[in-house]
Amino acid sequence: MGAPAVTTFCHICGLDLKEPPWGATGRDPSFNICPCCGVEFGSQDHHVSGVLRERERWIESGGAWWHAKRKPPGWSFEEQRKQIPAEIPAGIDRDTDVGPG
Ligand SMILES: [Zn+2]
Repeated sequence: MGAPAVTTFCHICGLDLKEPPWGATGRDPSFNICPCCGVEFGSQDHHVSGVLRERERWIESGGAWWHAKRKPPGWSFEEQRKQIPAEIPAGIDRDTDVGPG
């Protein structure tokens, strides 16, 4: 039995957090704050609708950094957007239809 594949990319903004935002199981939020989009895992992203709302807010901001000093030199909004995972952590409430099925 292998460990489940859990992404370390932020499901709001696509930043590589180096650790899974909702833990290794995807059901145990870290309550860390993403330095890029500023979302606290386990708070604003507790429901799919919140994830989508925060993602839209971040994209509309043009990729604003919540913690501006942590923004790497040469950082690219377009490149990071491509890293936003298609799947969101299992522990987030599916209160919104996120796709077929
Ligand atoms: Zn983020």
